Amino acid sequence: MSKETVPKPPSKKTSSVESAGFPPPNFIRNIIEDDNQTGKYNGQVATRFPPEPNGYLHIGHAKSICLNFGLAADYNGTCNLRFDDTNPTKEDVEYVDAIQADVRWLGFDWGQRRFFASDYFEQLYNFAIQLIQKGKAYVDSLSADEIRDYRGTLTQPGKKSPFRTRRIEENLEMFQRMRAGNYQDGAHVLRAKIDMAHPNLLMRDPTLYRIRRVSHHRTGDDWCIYPMYDFTHCLSDSLEGITHSICTLEFEINRQLYDWILDELNVYHPQQIEFARLNLSYTVLSKRRLIQLVEEGHVSGWDDPRMPTISGLRRRGFTPEAIQNFCERIGVAKRDSMVDMALLEYTIREDLNKRAPRVMGVLNPVRIVIDNYPPDQVEELEADNNPEDPAMGKRKLPFSRELWIEKEDFMETPPKKFFRLAPGREVRLKHAYYITCQQVEKDPQTGEILTIHCTYDPETRGGWSEDGRKVKGTLHWVSASHAVKTEVRLYEHLFNKENPNDLKAGETFKDHLNPNSIKILTNSYVEPSLLEASPGARYQFLRQGYFCADTFDSRPGKPVFNRIVTLRDTWAKIQKQGKQ
Ligand code: ATP
Ligand code: MG
Repeated sequence: MSKETVPKPPSKKTSSVESAGFPPPNFIRNIIEDDNQTGKYNGQVATRFPPEPNGYLHIGHAKSICLNFGLAADYNGTCNLRFDDTNPTKEDVEYVDAIQADVRWLGFDWGQRRFFASDYFEQLYNFAIQLIQKGKAYVDSLSADEIRDYRGTLTQPGKKSPFRTRRIEENLEMFQRMRAGNYQDGAHVLRAKIDMAHPNLLMRDPTLYRIRRVSHHRTGDDWCIYPMYDFTHCLSDSLEGITHSICTLEFEINRQLYDWILDELNVYHPQQIEFARLNLSYTVLSKRRLIQLVEEGHVSGWDDPRMPTISGLRRRGFTPEAIQNFCERIGVAKRDSMVDMALLEYTIREDLNKRAPRVMGVLNPVRIVIDNYPPDQVEELEADNNPEDPAMGKRKLPFSRELWIEKEDFMETPPKKFFRLAPGREVRLKHAYYITCQQVEKDPQTGEILTIHCTYDPETRGGWSEDGRKVKGTLHWVSASHAVKTEVRLYEHLFNKENPNDLKAGETFKDHLNPNSIKILTNSYVEPSLLEASPGARYQFLRQGYFCADTFDSRPGKPVFNRIVTLRDTWAKIQKQGKQ
C-alpha cells in the first residue's frame, strides 16, 4: 500500500476556494459530468449510502457518506440512505438507530429517502423466479462444503454441480418450497447459472439465496430464505433508480455479477463506480475488528473516545465540520493508500482554533503560595475568550494568594533551555502578574515538592511590565480556592503500530493495542467558569490542547473532560520533514 499524497494544509488562497464551495475535481465527478453532457441519465444524479446494520459507522464510512451525499447536493440530485439488511444473524435495530444518528450528526439529511433492502424481499423473490424461468438460476442441493470444493481455483476451472441440469419446473417448485419452509437450513440454495469455468470466481454460479431460519429485525418470521448481497445490491440500486452506485475498490470484481444480474433481468441499469477505501494510520477500520474490540472489552463501547467510529469521534469532541473537511481533503482516488492520523488531528485543531474558548486547566497540579499577596484578597482579572475572535468576548478570572500550576512548569535545577519557573527565576502568570520563585518546601521523607513560595510584582497586573523587562516563560494557573477539581482523560493512539493490519505470522491486530491509549487524571483543576460546562462543550486549555466535556460522564457541577487533541501539530512537522 502506498502512502497517500495528501494535499498540504491549505494556504489562505486554497481555503477561500474551498469555502466558496468549489470542491476539487475527482474521477467520479468527471464521470458524472460526462454523463450529464451525454444525457446518459437525463442529467440526473441519484446516489445512495448503503450500510449493513451490523455495526456502528466509522470514519471510513464518513468518507463514503460525504462523497455520496456531497455529490447529490452538488449536482442537485438525491442520495438515499439504504440499509442493506439481508443477513439477519448479524444485524440489529440498535445499529439502524446508531447509523441514522451518526449520518444526521455528520450533517446529512436523507429526507423521505430511507430504504431497507428487506422492503424489497418480495420483489427480489420475483426476480429470482424470473431467472429460474429463463433457465438462468437453479436450486442446488450440494452442501456448502461441496459447493466450495466444486468452485475450483484461479488456475483450475470449477466442476458443474449434478443439480445444475434440474428442469425449470422442478427448480420453480423447489424454490417455492424453500420459501415455504419445507427444508432445513443448508439443504438447498438457489444459484445463478453462469459459467463454472469463468476466470472471475464470483461468476462461477454464485449463490443467490440461502435458507436461514432466523427472525429478521424488520420482517420477523415472514421469510426463511434470504437473498445474498450481490443479488440484493444491484436490484435495490435498480429499483431505486440510482444512477451512480459508488462503492469501494474491493467490489470491483463484483461488478461483473452486478451487470450480469441486471442484464439478464433486463431492468434499469445503474453504473457501479469503485473508489479507494480510507485507511487511517494507528487504527483499524473494519467493523469485524471493531466489534472484537467492543465485545472483548478492549474499549468501553462503540463510542469509546479512542474508537475511529463516528460515535467515538463525537464523544472525543470532534466536530462534524472537521470530519467533513477531512473527507474533502483526503479526496477520492482509485488507488489504495494510508492516510496519516495526524491529518485528522490537524483538521480538528484547525476548526477548534477558530471557535473553542480559551480557558485554563492544570492537569498535574503543584501548589504555589504568593507570600507577599494579602491572604484574604481576591482579584478579578480579565481574560480574552479567544484571541483569534474578539467577538467571543472576555471573562473574569479569580486570582488569590494560593494557586495551582503545572508540576512540569517548575524545575529545581533547570537545564539550559528550560524557561519556566525555577528558584530565583521570574515568569509571567497568564492574564495575571509576574512572579518570582523564592523557595521550595519539600516533603522531608520523599523529597516531593509540596509548595513553591513566590513573590509577585503588583506593578505587572494583566501580565505586562511598564519597565519593559522581559520574562521568558508564561504559565497557566488556577486559583486554588476557586478552582474546580475534575477528572481529565488523556488519549493516545489506540494502536502503537502504524498499520495494525500488517501482521507477522502468529500475530493478531490486538497484539498492537497501545497500553497507554488512555490515562485518567483524577486530580486536575480547571478555572471556575468550567464548573457548569455542558456535556459536549469544547475548550482550548491553554498550552495543553483541546478538551471536551464528556457527553456520558460529565454533568454541570461535576465536569469530566476528554482531551480531543494536543496543541502540538505533528502534521505540520510531517509536512516540513517532507515525509508526505
Ligand atoms: P467494514 O469493512 O468496516 O466492515 P463494510 O464495507 O462491510 O465495512 P458497509 O456497511 O457494507 O460496511 O459499508 C457501507 C458503505 O461504506 C459501503 O458502500 C462501503 O463501500 C463504504 N465503506 C466502508 N468502509 C469504508 C472505508 N474504509 N472507506 C470508504 N468507504 C467505506
Ligand atoms: Mg459490507
